[in-house]
Amino acid sequence: MTDLTGKKGLVLGIANEHSIAYGCARAYRDAGAELALTYLNGKAKPHVEPLAASLEASMLLPCDVQHDDQLEAVFDAIQQQWGRLDFVLHAMAYAPLEDLHARLTDTSSDGFAMAMDISCHSFVRVARLAEPLMARGGCLQTVTFLGSERVVDGYNLMGPVKAALESTTRYLAAELGGRGIRVHALSPGPLKTRAASGLRGFDELMTRAEAKAPLSHGTGIGDVGALSAFLNSDAAASLTGNIEYVDAGLHIME
Ligand code: NAD
Repeated sequence: MTDLTGKKGLVLGIANEHSIAYGCARAYRDAGAELALTYLNGKAKPHVEPLAASLEASMLLPCDVQHDDQLEAVFDAIQQQWGRLDFVLHAMAYAPLEDLHARLTDTSSDGFAMAMDISCHSFVRVARLAEPLMARGGCLQTVTFLGSERVVDGYNLMGPVKAALESTTRYLAAELGGRGIRVHALSPGPLKTRAASGLRGFDELMTRAEAKAPLSHGTGIGDVGALSAFLNSDAAASLTGNIEYVDAGLHIME
């Protein structure tokens, strides 16, 4: 079993109990880690609060990454309370619906920029703020999707955004490796979450994925959590810069 005893981690992106970030946080806690969590805003807080309690989180803070001061306040609180950080999960994405539902060809510049900022550049900001707290090394993880490298019906502008996120993962891994900071992107198969419900035709996508995957089943948030917890552990000390598929093998199929 993965052991994260004594490790302290920040989880960004829990909206509810279906969130990939929640599946990961559960696995981290079960492996013995101490957690700091965030919620998007006042509307999200009542959904995240009971989950934070069940995870015995040491900190629960607001964080909309569009507000730099909120992200900075999260890392300030961690600096004050813990003085260090061992891992961060960045599990968030957003695109305005009218752009998400349009052909990429018709995407607005503002919508594309917003999707890139929240879903990709925020990971760069997270890395920058985490670096000084990871003097003993650490692990940064984000969450991507196969639509980055293949054209997946309905994924539209999120394809190029996730491609940028995967490239960002590799460049961060190269830049931070010298400090013992490892960087990965998890690539789960389709999962029924709030974010996924914004994609047109998502139910069909899930059905197709399950039928096509070599293991003939879908992906659960517990599967993602188990892999993510392992990557945070000392047993994964030689791994960095990876796109880690957890999709019942879907990515190898035509
Ligand atoms: P989710 O809706 O549970 O989580 C998305 C999170 O993004 C929410 O917690 C939301 O608050 C957060 N978020 C959106 N805008 C934000 C902002 N401005 N500041 C801070 N947080 C913000 O859905 P999920 O599926 O768990 O999504 C998590 C990640 O997993 C996303 O990057 C998504 O693209 C990725 N992913 C999802 C699937 C899937 O099928 N569900 C597959 C592969 C990758």
